[in-house]
Amino acid sequence: MLDLLVKNATLPDGRTNMSIAVLDGKIVEVSPGLDVPAAEVLEAQGLLVSPPFVDAHFHMDATLSYGLPRVNASGTLLEGIALWGELKPLLTQEALIARALAYCDWAVAKGLLAIRTHVDVCDPRLLAVEALLEVKRQVAPYLDLQLVAFPQDGVLRGPLGPDQHLNNLKRALDLGVDVVGGIPHFERSMADGALSVRLLCELAAERGLRVDMHCDESDDPLSRHVETLAFETQRLGLQGRVTGSHLTSMHSMDNYYVSKLLPLMAEAQLQVVANPLINITLQGRHDTYPKRRGMTRVPELLAAGINVAFGHDCVMDPWYSLGSGDMLEVAHMGLHVAQMTSQAAMRQCFDAVTVNPAQLMGLAGYGLEVGCFADFCWLQARDPVEALRLRATRLKVFRRGKLLAQSPAATSQLHLPGRPTQTSWMT
Ligand SMILES: [Zn+2]
Repeated sequence: MLDLLVKNATLPDGRTNMSIAVLDGKIVEVSPGLDVPAAEVLEAQGLLVSPPFVDAHFHMDATLSYGLPRVNASGTLLEGIALWGELKPLLTQEALIARALAYCDWAVAKGLLAIRTHVDVCDPRLLAVEALLEVKRQVAPYLDLQLVAFPQDGVLRGPLGPDQHLNNLKRALDLGVDVVGGIPHFERSMADGALSVRLLCELAAERGLRVDMHCDESDDPLSRHVETLAFETQRLGLQGRVTGSHLTSMHSMDNYYVSKLLPLMAEAQLQVVANPLINITLQGRHDTYPKRRGMTRVPELLAAGINVAFGHDCVMDPWYSLGSGDMLEVAHMGLHVAQMTSQAAMRQCFDAVTVNPAQLMGLAGYGLEVGCFADFCWLQARDPVEALRLRATRLKVFRRGKLLAQSPAATSQLHLPGRPTQTSWMT
């Protein structure tokens, strides 16, 4: 007998009246109208059943620290980095772990079951690294956490000098951090930025690791480290294993240059993370009017065959005061900022918080096909576009066929003459 049978589900690809059969934590059949005995049956009522949400770009060492030790008055990236520098000496492992675990609770309740988080490796104590490795162990039964060794102060520019910062980064990898990070636009010069990309990509190639760099998070159209990232990816045979996060300078670049850059990125199979909530908040701060949006060129990247994910980046930290782990809110903002308003483009925005980041992170067994893990969300929406419009309630969240979280349907009781007694905002 099956462990779980989901009946009458709509899938993100538009198939309706679908059944999903689960045995031993895996999907064993996906077919229309299947009705066989199961220990548990979920009648999905024609609503959307989606693979879980995935966040390919987050900072779990900083999350839920908003207001510590003060708030970011200017709202800029650079004041956020300075503020994080003030907070770092005050951090304790216990507080880091408690805040990260609390965020993972929020994430699971929103159907977000895989997160790639950058972790600052500039502190020689590696306090945050040890804390997040402990969190990774603790949440492993319900959430996949992937860690990126992130030299926030710049691997060459940082106050301890290049040798110490590179050494800290390598020690973090030795401890079990999964991915090599970087921040070339924050190094002292364009030449140092390019050198940092080369050194860090070589380190990843040596160790057989993936790369994910904060790259060109700037409004400066001449911040072109993505070009070096694509070049080194190609040179070192890292195709498909390297991600450029943010790439906001692409928003401001000359169109002719971008017409050369996109094919180079595609050739290197570079992957991209845009962070719409944060990019629209932090970029363009030096502009008066017109004020640039500052998000990378998402539709053009997708059209060039490049895998693009939307990341949350920050929740209640030195850079961003809002957020709740809701990847539909992230995609909703991405859709608006990139003006991705056609039906097809809105579906691409849904993919950018589900299948695209799963591919980027190399998640095994992700999806709603036979043989995949039985991980999925039952949403209070009939299709991905409605899920985006409503930032739909996650009615039930499953992992390996087991229920992790459930929420009551969103509905409002109405007391209006001659009108229905309730609404759920669905036509
Ligand atoms: Zn980031």
